[in-house]
Amino acid sequence: MYVMKFGGTSVGNAQRVESVCRIVEAQPLPRAVVVSAASGVTNLLLEAAKCAAGGNVDGRAAAVAAIREKHADVAAGISNDTERAAALAILDQVHAALDDRLDEVAAAGSVPAKLSDSIVATGEKSMSVMAAAMLRSRGTAAVHAWADRYLATDDRFGNARPNRDRTREQMADLLPLLNDGVTVVFTGFIGGAPDGSTTTLGRGGSDYSATLIGAALDATEVQIWTDVPGVLTADPRQVAEARVVPAVSYDEAQELAHFGAKVLHPRTIRPAVSRGIPVRILSTFLPEEPGTLVTRDAANDNVKAVTALKNLLLLTIDVPELEDLAGASAEVFAALHHAHIEIASVSQASSRRRMTYLVDPGAHGGCANVRALLDDALAESDVEADVRCEEGVALVAAVGAGAASHPAALARVLEVLAKAGVPVLASSQQDSNVALTATVPASQADRAVQALHDALIKPQNGARSRRPRRSDLLAESMRVG
Ligand code: ASP
Ligand code: MG
Repeated sequence: MYVMKFGGTSVGNAQRVESVCRIVEAQPLPRAVVVSAASGVTNLLLEAAKCAAGGNVDGRAAAVAAIREKHADVAAGISNDTERAAALAILDQVHAALDDRLDEVAAAGSVPAKLSDSIVATGEKSMSVMAAAMLRSRGTAAVHAWADRYLATDDRFGNARPNRDRTREQMADLLPLLNDGVTVVFTGFIGGAPDGSTTTLGRGGSDYSATLIGAALDATEVQIWTDVPGVLTADPRQVAEARVVPAVSYDEAQELAHFGAKVLHPRTIRPAVSRGIPVRILSTFLPEEPGTLVTRDAANDNVKAVTALKNLLLLTIDVPELEDLAGASAEVFAALHHAHIEIASVSQASSRRRMTYLVDPGAHGGCANVRALLDDALAESDVEADVRCEEGVALVAAVGAGAASHPAALARVLEVLAKAGVPVLASSQQDSNVALTATVPASQADRAVQALHDALIKPQNGARSRRPRRSDLLAESMRVG
């Protein structure tokens, strides 16, 4: 069983959905497909909901019109008249349900998470209908399947967690069809709460859907078809010589997602790990390229990629002597968690009176808001602590399991950064055996990534590197085992 997931750009218009069909048809049966909404549609749906809640009738109408137009464009590519008419009839129902939900939002004057989920599900539901119709229209047996009936979750709307056992049970209903050679086209991103209402797995959640569905179907391989040719050694906007990494381990892939490589939704790997299913990242635009294979074992001990998380805040929490550092940390963690502020790294100073947190403030913006939030939380629980906050901080990471567990590895990273003139605010190795990290001023992040890439990533055979001799030397010396 092959499970193939296609992201928003890969299904962005009729021509692209047609290319997706060709890729799907080239894979052996049995096979399942997971689709995202066409690119931009999820944002438009959220925009429509926001406008509806705020009484902005024109804004709502404009967003809905743009969504209908995108869908009409893709549907126009369904060549068989009967199939196209049938798909358009279902789309009409889906769009009518969307209007009803938006009316509810307008009446409520706000967008409750439950309603929001049923609204954003419109994008994936529409795409699964159109992709299945296009496959049939090309003579390939296919049906669409809305995952709110198959992928079981809890009822944390907006960020639901899967229930693997119930998902497996529900998915079993589709096995006869799949084994008969019918391609099932699932909606990514969405699931079903215990009461049957639609949930979502969080933004970008279709990758996660693919591995959850793959695990429930005991897939041979889960393929994530996207708009980049695989996991890259660095962001090509930062490093011109960046290239595809042929293989990484589950741990490395997870760490790369955590440290800002945008290829996979961070939770994607977990369901694959539990059943040892290989995940392959491939490009819909370069379908012949081998992509990146993610499996249990790291292919070698090299540093695989260098990443940077920019726009982080460095929080320093000091407690007076005799005050409870653990208690203060508990409050800080809880407050950050409630505000959906992601923690990139944490460390405790040896004095046991100071903790530092590197956080991604997301929608909260800069230090003023985050400090106010923490001051309130600490005051409310009567914890005495001093909160300081610094903006413009970046975390650069060199990811590679074998290399990172080498005792001299962190020293080498620091040496490379020192030679490049990048000041290091903090560094760590013990955090993770998969990545070496350094905290640097955000203004120096690009320079740091370039220097680490030059020094630690082995140049491709025969490829010209900017400073081949030096990087060869350092790459060699990073290899262990
Ligand atoms: N369409 C959803 C989003 O834009 C899910 C996904 O594409 O993975 O977040
Ligand atoms: Mg995505």
